[in-house]
Amino acid sequence: MDYPDGVSAATVGVYVHVPFCERVCPYCDFAVVGVRTLTAEVERRYVDALLRELELRRPAFAGRELASLYLGGGTPSLCRPESLARIVRAARAAFEVRGPVEVTLEANPSTLERERLPGFRDAGVNRLSLGIQSFDDATLKRLGRAHRGDEARLTLQAARTAGFEALSCDLIFAAPDQGLPQLEADIDELLAFAPEHVSAYELNVEPGTPFATAAERGQLACAGEDEALAMWDAIESRLEAAAYVHYELSAYARPGFEAVHNQRYWRRQPVLGLGVGAFSTDPRGSRGDAPFGLRRSNLRSPDAYLARIEAGESAESEPAEALSPETARAEAMFLSLRTRSGLDAAAFEREFGRPPRGFYPDEITTLVAQALLAEDSAGGLRLTRRGQRLSDTVFANFVELGD
Ligand code: SF4
Repeated sequence: MDYPDGVSAATVGVYVHVPFCERVCPYCDFAVVGVRTLTAEVERRYVDALLRELELRRPAFAGRELASLYLGGGTPSLCRPESLARIVRAARAAFEVRGPVEVTLEANPSTLERERLPGFRDAGVNRLSLGIQSFDDATLKRLGRAHRGDEARLTLQAARTAGFEALSCDLIFAAPDQGLPQLEADIDELLAFAPEHVSAYELNVEPGTPFATAAERGQLACAGEDEALAMWDAIESRLEAAAYVHYELSAYARPGFEAVHNQRYWRRQPVLGLGVGAFSTDPRGSRGDAPFGLRRSNLRSPDAYLARIEAGESAESEPAEALSPETARAEAMFLSLRTRSGLDAAAFEREFGRPPRGFYPDEITTLVAQALLAEDSAGGLRLTRRGQRLSDTVFANFVELGD
């Protein structure tokens, strides 16, 4: 598909957060609530609120072309296809649509969702993002996931039959007791389904989650640093050998299937976030009293979110944050360094008045000397392979200055 240029500030991406999950995984720190069954009434009320919020928020993004719609969560595929069709129709009606729009739906492998896949396709979803994570039942169980390997296999087959234009699959690595051989088996099995896109995430133990408590008690056997690095290498080498391009730290795509929506975040392009806990950014579109852009976040409680929206009020948890120049520069550095193309020094200078070395001379010199960053003759920067593996260390150099 020939999508509109996601780089253009004249476009907008819409993120819709659906906070419901069959069960809450013990490592999850997203804005989610566990529901055994998503009733039609709860679903209708939530979708009504999303559409109302869209109407409230769209004037700030008026006249922009819709580049992408991302239905995430939570588990948005717990919603019925007709509910998702309402959201797709409303987003398309709210903005300019001049060509194909990437419409992504996150889904988990389950019988319920599998049966709904043709309906989701008819609702306008053209890219399915499946939370496979692993095919190994023991790994899935330790992760607290609701599905098992066979459901993942059946859902992948059903997704192909349903005819989505792109299939993206999430894999997790460095999970408790996973081990390199199991990860390699997961990659090989996934490759047999030839997804257009793969996102490989290292398990992070986030503060406040049950996994964090287990880790503090010494009850969580996650991979050590060396094993996690070996897993990273295994993912990269197997996927690159299968002709996937490693175009962002966690993301691999067959050429032409890079995620339009996700790239908006790395390129700092406007995203309108709707729903519980959703973030919105307009880094370059808002000038005036916020020359470096605005960031907004919604309330994380579903009840509070619904109460505000149903009263016709904003669901923002706090006033919009006007980014300081230091924060905006730091974000420009580490978000672009996440990508294969890296940081364009000329574009950085146009936005901030000086090239990267004008702000971070010592940091760049040190990181280049440590072979973590590569610098081209125009001052452009990219992570080296070593830098990719130690990206948190590299980014900390810029984040600290931005705080
Ligand atoms: S399914 Fe995903 S969003 Fe839901 S609780 Fe698990 S990790 Fe979080």
